[in-house]
Formats: sequence, structure tokens, C-alpha cells
Amino acid sequence: MALILSAEEACGVDNQSESIFFSIPIELRLTVYAHLFNISGLHIRFVAGRDGARQFKLTPCAAPPITDEEDRDGTERDPRISIWDQTIYKRRLSSSWGSHWMCEDLAFYFQDCDKSMSEAESASSRNFSSTLRVCKKLYLELVNRVMTTTDFHVTDMQTLGALLAETELSPPPPFSFEGSICPRIVGLSIVLSQPLAFFQAIETISTSSHDHQENRPPPNPQYVGDIRVWSDLPSRLLAQPHGLRRLHIWLDHTGEENWSVVNERAILGPVEALTTRIPELQLVFLLPKAHPRIEDPQRHYLSGHRGGEGSSSRFQVRRLLRQRYRVEDDRVIYVRDFPHSYGKNYPSAIPPAERERVEAEGWRAGVDVTKQMTLEARKRWFGWTRQGRRR
Ligand SMILES: [Zn+2]
Repeated sequence: MALILSAEEACGVDNQSESIFFSIPIELRLTVYAHLFNISGLHIRFVAGRDGARQFKLTPCAAPPITDEEDRDGTERDPRISIWDQTIYKRRLSSSWGSHWMCEDLAFYFQDCDKSMSEAESASSRNFSSTLRVCKKLYLELVNRVMTTTDFHVTDMQTLGALLAETELSPPPPFSFEGSICPRIVGLSIVLSQPLAFFQAIETISTSSHDHQENRPPPNPQYVGDIRVWSDLPSRLLAQPHGLRRLHIWLDHTGEENWSVVNERAILGPVEALTTRIPELQLVFLLPKAHPRIEDPQRHYLSGHRGGEGSSSRFQVRRLLRQRYRVEDDRVIYVRDFPHSYGKNYPSAIPPAERERVEAEGWRAGVDVTKQMTLEARKRWFGWTRQGRRR
């Protein structure tokens, strides 16, 4: 008679029959795990391992949930320690982790974090890491619990490529990150702040017809590796053996041009197609607000058009205020973007959404709103005086 070993037996997992904790029903143990390890998000970071092995580091996610609609223009990153020393502020403004800048602080600059935030967020993940080392049985139960509830955030192309790389011929050790977590990721959040040239290169590739590909200019060698990772993303996600169920993608470019110079559909179209192959997938694109001056339904996901902003049956597109304060030549600068009627100079009595709607109408009517933001223009476009009273 053939002896069939379970996965646990095959990995040499002791049943821990003398343990009081493991004698209680699994439902109760899961409740204990849920109480102790309420980890909603973890950041994955690739670190160079010995002999070229893939190694990853996990750090806690402290970013507010994406449903939080509070405007974040960059000023929220100012620690307000000193008006003379803006070292921390400038570093945070330059973060490539986007809305997860505070998570980068936690990962690299622990001492600069807000104390309450850092202690609360790190304690849970630190205890989690320690508990994983108790025994193999606890490891398996904890990993199973975390994989269903935790979103894993990736903020750089190198990690994304390593995370989704094809498994080598020899399978990774079963009780390693690569062996037990990589193949089981259910919730993935990709946060990428990339140079504009990267997005333009992908657009060039994806919009070139097959006949003209030979005449296409070669992409900047600097981005070849990243372009390959992005192009392979849909097929790699489809190959995830345990099935992806949540995928959030936050994108922005680091240039001063409006976000809408990027062809969103060219960049995200292949990912969008995943929803037909994985019907259960919750797909959310988090993108900067489209600029009405150059918006184009052929290039952008716009409200009222196919697969546009808001909810659709297959995926969601959410628009966010773009980071306004940035660092250039070691100076904090302000980058204008839509809505231009943003900030303290506009009547607070008018809801921001209404100001934005009226401004968008101006742009679509062919008016350069940036040149008409005089008091007269505000009267004309917003119907309000400087004191915020309607005419
Ligand atoms: Zn985070």
C-alpha cells in the first residue's frame, strides 16, 4: 500500500501532541492569531543574498488605508522640527515609496519616526517574526493566517522582479520566505514612482504595431531590465500557484510634467486583462488626477468612458491628488498640477470637489486656467469673491 505523506509530514513537521496550545481546536488558535497579529500590510524588500540567492526583508506598513481621501500634497511629511534644518523633510519628499513614505522611515530611519506610530506598528510585526521561529507547526498556521489577510507592498522594480521570478529548478526550502510566502501571496500592492522615460518607453513598445517594431527606437538601456519586469508582470501573476485575489497598483512619475502625459491604457492594459483570466481578482488602479487639458479617453481611464474612473464590473480606478512639494537641487519646490485651484488661496466655503469640477469645465472649454487665476477669473469661473461670497 502506498504511503502518502501530507505536506506537513513531508516537511518533517512535528505534530506537537504534548503542547497544550496545539490541543485546543484550530478555530480557537486562529482567533488567538487574529488577536495577536493584526497585520494588515507588510513591505517586501529584496536584499542581495549570498551566492545570488533571493532574499527578502519584511517591514511593517504604517500607511493609512487607501480609502482615506485626505489630500496629501507633501506637507504632511514635514516633521516641523526646525525651519532651518529640512533634512528629514527633504528626504521624505524624495521618497520613492509614494504614499508609503512613512513605511520607508520605519524600514530605514526608525529613529526619525513618530514614536507612537513606530512602536505600535513595529511591535506587531516584530512579535510575528519571533513567533514564526517557535516551531514548524506554528510557522505553517501563522503563514496560512497571514497570507489570507495581509497585503504585501512592493515599492521598487528590483523587488517586484525578484518576487515574481520563475522558481529555479531546485525548489526553495519549505520554511523560507521564498518557499512558503512568495507562492501564496493573495494580496499584492505595487507602488511605483518611476521616471517619465520609463512609462514612455513602455508606451512606445506597447503601441508599436507588429510591422513597425523593427523600426522602433531601442529603449534607454537604463530601463531595459525594469521594462522586462513590467512586461512580464501579467504572466507572472497568472502563474502564482495559489491565486492572486487582490491587486492594487499605485503609479506616478517623478517628472514635473502632468501625470496625464502618460498613456495609462498602454501601461495598465495588459494588467487590466488579468481580470478576464482571474474573475475573482479585485483590481484597483490608484492614479494621479487626470488633467482635463490633455485628457484623452483613448489614453486615460476617464469617467463615463469604457473602463473609466470609479467602479466598473472588472476593476476600479481611483484618482488621487498628486504630491505638490518635491525636492530639486536640494531645494523644496512646488509643482503645479490639476486642480490648480488647490490650496489656501481659494474660498474655503466652496467644497474642493466643486472648485475642481468648475476648473475642469474651464480647461475643457479651452481656457488656460493657470493664466486666468486672477480675482476676475475666480469670479468668472467660481462665481465667488475673495471673501467667499457668491456674487
Ligand atoms: Zn506601507
